[in-house]
Amino acid sequence: MNQADAFVVGTGPNGLAAAVTLARAGLSVELFEAHESIGGGLRTEALFDSDIVHDICSAVHPMAAVSPFFAEFDLAARGVDLVHSVASYAHPLDHGQAAIAYKDLGRTCDHLGPDGPRWHRLMQPLINHSASVVELVMTGPRALPHTTTAAALLATRVLAHGTPLAKRQFTNEPARALLAGVAAHAIGPLPTPTAAGVAMLLGHLAHSTGWPLPRGGSARIAEALAADITAHGGIIHTGCRIKNLKDLPPARTVLLDVAPKGFVEIAGDQLPAAYRRRLQRFRYGPAAAKVDLVVSEPIPWTSPEIATAATVHLGGTQAAVFRQETLNARGVATNEPFVLLVDPAVADPERAVDSKRPIWAYAHVPHGSHANPFTSIRQRIEQHAPGFTDTILAHRSITGAGYEDYNPNYVGGDIGSGAMTLLQSLARPTAQANPYRTPLLGVYLCSASTPPGPGVHGMSGHLAALSALRHEFGFSTAPRLSPDP
Ligand SMILES: Cc1cc2nc3c(=O)[nH]c(=O)nc-3n(C[C@H](O)[C@H](O)[C@H](O)COP(=O)(O)OP(=O)(O)OC[C@H]3O[C@@H](n4cnc5c(N)ncnc54)[C@H](O)[C@@H]3O)c2cc1C
Repeated sequence: MNQADAFVVGTGPNGLAAAVTLARAGLSVELFEAHESIGGGLRTEALFDSDIVHDICSAVHPMAAVSPFFAEFDLAARGVDLVHSVASYAHPLDHGQAAIAYKDLGRTCDHLGPDGPRWHRLMQPLINHSASVVELVMTGPRALPHTTTAAALLATRVLAHGTPLAKRQFTNEPARALLAGVAAHAIGPLPTPTAAGVAMLLGHLAHSTGWPLPRGGSARIAEALAADITAHGGIIHTGCRIKNLKDLPPARTVLLDVAPKGFVEIAGDQLPAAYRRRLQRFRYGPAAAKVDLVVSEPIPWTSPEIATAATVHLGGTQAAVFRQETLNARGVATNEPFVLLVDPAVADPERAVDSKRPIWAYAHVPHGSHANPFTSIRQRIEQHAPGFTDTILAHRSITGAGYEDYNPNYVGGDIGSGAMTLLQSLARPTAQANPYRTPLLGVYLCSASTPPGPGVHGMSGHLAALSALRHEFGFSTAPRLSPDP
């Protein structure tokens, strides 16, 4: 193996974004991926039927659509088509009622009765300042001087919706549930300031840039990143798990798309004891347990409006969602967990073939859970779509614990690679001025366990790579990421 300027361990969106940034700066880069295929959380595979493909992890990409990294990388110019459903997400309630977050804010408000004007007052200012809100969330406090309005908008909303006051913000259940379902994306107790922050980010994006899916599946994003890396001389090794950092030949910098647990496993004996202890104190959150299905027809939702949304939240009322999520975070399994469902063919009709379509659904379950989620997820769907069970042609489950076997970054099934507590949303994996640098010379962490945290945005990898370029190679400006002319 030739000596490279930079090694990247792990090819999730952050590892790939790091490698793109380094390769575009003119460095020679090699990537090492444990799995037989690249992508980490960006894999799309045929599971039962060669024509029907399933997103194994991420499916919906509100953050990729607005991330500063992907904006400059320019997914569209590289043939990745982000497609939308009419509604960003739906939230069924009892008696055939459903709350719908249409991409069109006005249409959403029209359906929320007396809460319509309140929903409008909550979301419209965030939409007006969306670029600053996104910059603040994705690049952190350094964005503050020119994002003070966004910070103030977020702070007031987080206080109102991230505390017990959340229960008093709306008059009726549809608006309450609509926001609770987005807050549940934080996968932790509810209400909390962090979950409210997540709800404000994803909630306003639902009415602006939307919650799109890449046509053909999430792997299209990984493929576009990998194509840019190899076009700029990068080399990708798959089926190559790095068990010890010392196994890598010398390089001027090494970027690790791994969780703190993985970092301790591969370099623990080389780390200063105090730093190692801080990594070992990093907390992991509750798990996701998923079912991939092939069904014979569109989901027979009781309320037809639900079928306008590719993403559906199944959790019932705000009180029920708060209860399920809080119990789950305490390690108490419930028969009615919060379920996130994606029906990709709603946004991307070509995902359905001969009326057969893939369905993606995961339940929030306690950390490390070995429970098969199939029955509870099926019942959740059946509750709002009677007859759904009869349409199932094939299914496969991955338990919470199974996700860690699949990808060591999802410790105990925590698909966020670290609990989104207030502390860990501000400082991850440890509290230090540069969260990407480690005490090992030239070694950087770049996974979702670093800021800005979970999701497909590539920003952890990009920011870690910029830091390495600055500190190890003396670069003072960021490389150009847009496609070559
Ligand atoms: C079920 C599920 C649903 C999700 N849904 C969404 C969604 O819809 N939208 C969204 O934005 N996000 C979603 N996410 C979260 C998103 O996928 C992750 O936040 C994101 O993939 C994190 O990227 P990453 O690069 O940090 O790490 P990962 O994507 O986890 O990739 C890490 C890679 O590193 C490899 N690796 C680890 N250790 C080693 C080693 N020692 N040697 C070699 N290789 C190693 C792993 O095999 C893996 O390929 C979901 C995740 C899951 C699991």
